[in-house]
Amino acid sequence: MFDVLIIGCGVVGAAAAYELSKYQIRGKALSVAVLDKENDVSQGTSKANSAIIHAGYDPPHGSLMAALNVEGSRLVRELCVKLDIPHRQCGSLVLAFSSGPRETCLSEEQHLRKLFERGERNGVPDMEILSRDAALALEPNLSGDVRAALLAPTAMIISPWEFTLALMETALRNGAELFLNREVISLKRLQGKAGDAETFWRVTTDKDSFDARYVINAAGVYSGKIHNMVSPQSFEIYPYRGEYYLLDKSEGKLVNHIIFQCPTPAGKGVLVAPTVHGNLIAGPNSGSCDDEDDTAVTAAGMEEVAGKAKKSVPSINFRANIRNFAGLRAAADRDDFIIAGAEGAPGFFDAAGIKSPGLSAAPAIAKRLLELLTAGGLALEPKEHPVDTRRRVRFADLSPGDRIKLVQKNPAYGRVLCRCETVTESEILDSLAAPIPPRTLDGVKRRCNPGMGRCQGGFCGPRILELLADRYNLEPEEILQDRSGSYILTAEGTSIGT
Ligand SMILES: Cc1cc2nc3c(=O)[nH]c(=O)nc-3n(C[C@H](O)[C@H](O)[C@H](O)COP(=O)(O)OP(=O)(O)OC[C@H]3O[C@@H](n4cnc5c(N)ncnc54)[C@H](O)[C@@H]3O)c2cc1C
Repeated sequence: MFDVLIIGCGVVGAAAAYELSKYQIRGKALSVAVLDKENDVSQGTSKANSAIIHAGYDPPHGSLMAALNVEGSRLVRELCVKLDIPHRQCGSLVLAFSSGPRETCLSEEQHLRKLFERGERNGVPDMEILSRDAALALEPNLSGDVRAALLAPTAMIISPWEFTLALMETALRNGAELFLNREVISLKRLQGKAGDAETFWRVTTDKDSFDARYVINAAGVYSGKIHNMVSPQSFEIYPYRGEYYLLDKSEGKLVNHIIFQCPTPAGKGVLVAPTVHGNLIAGPNSGSCDDEDDTAVTAAGMEEVAGKAKKSVPSINFRANIRNFAGLRAAADRDDFIIAGAEGAPGFFDAAGIKSPGLSAAPAIAKRLLELLTAGGLALEPKEHPVDTRRRVRFADLSPGDRIKLVQKNPAYGRVLCRCETVTESEILDSLAAPIPPRTLDGVKRRCNPGMGRCQGGFCGPRILELLADRYNLEPEEILQDRSGSYILTAEGTSIGT
């Protein structure tokens, strides 16, 4: 019997597990299990988003989104340092343009003022409205049509999957357990032993069952379906797709800040931003879709994103594109996060409708869930010395002197497998020995970057495939690119063009 079971290992489930793993009950470790239907952590929306820690001027004042965004972004900053998560506080600009109809230009400037005032009410520090010249002095590659800009210096860029991984790894080091490839298919509230007043949840997956006193629903775009397994439908979740370009490092220095346009009712609009890995990201657009797993990109979507991004930064060279991807927003039929107990389901808590700024808010959402669990009867006491640090070697970032010292200690750091990103064999072996080892090529890529560069794994892919096959004692053709079914080698002796 687990004390708490979390459904979903995206950033919200991982943040909840991390937070809970720092507590005990009645002097004994709290037992926490996290289940996910995929073969790795962060395979849902937490993998495919804009990777921005928002300052917090966007959500309506008084909403949960506003409070948890501002608190979350402060907590993320601390976590990035403690848990060695790639990040950069580069600040953001929202642009108002001077081209187009006069009313639109005026209303965009008014919109900046509204965002500024809302940000102040939400508690966002150090914002400023910049003139056209001041904005262009900060970002010379912006369109000359810029009329004014809202600067929010606290906005950050981050690696969203390493954020999720670091939270979950730390939770595991503190005793939590992770069960991958488990799709929850039903939940039932059961009575304890005869005469025992206590009830518990039986959570059944496609493989096995788990019992738990409390359950957290952090299932992203599927959170509505999980909720409906225990309680009458009280909200609906609609997947809303956003498509992106990821451009080569040749474009990575075009802008230093995250560049937004004025938001519309459809969302924050198309942004242009540097990434923590030195690339440039442009996107997302916004379109409804019927399938919770449909992350395909479309030619029309790509055209829309490129056109809108060029409005902010006209000189972007979209021929330097190295990857396109799409993520799915868990939009709800109400304009706020749904973080609450479910009607008629004692001990069951939803973290649903966690659309943007869910990445920024995740650590604060986790604290909110702990408050709900405590109010629901879970008597949490802080552990005296929980694990709360994490470090990994990033060979590419070391000085020449430090690289030499490392290679002398371990020659595998001298074998560079990914030439685009300077990733060594030893870093890949380190990831395979970590608390949540990758099982796929993309799992290795997310952990230590081989395949992130211009050649997208053309050189290092085959060697990493061999390392994975060795680690798991599998045949090479059993190794996957990413999700289940994504086989790479499908037949012996064939090659492209024969
Ligand atoms: C296009 C786009 C851009 C965004 N940009 C930003 C941004 O820049 N900044 C920001 O703050 N936020 C952003 N967001 C929002 C942010 O990405 C999400 O709020 C956040 O990732 C949600 O995390 P989650 O853990 O709730 O969901 P997910 O990451 O989707 O995790 C849910 C998990 O539940 C699992 N699951 C589902 N059903 C089951 C089941 N039956 N059994 C077991 N497991 C199950 C899934 O496999 C998945 O791993 C963006 C979102 C999108 C789509």
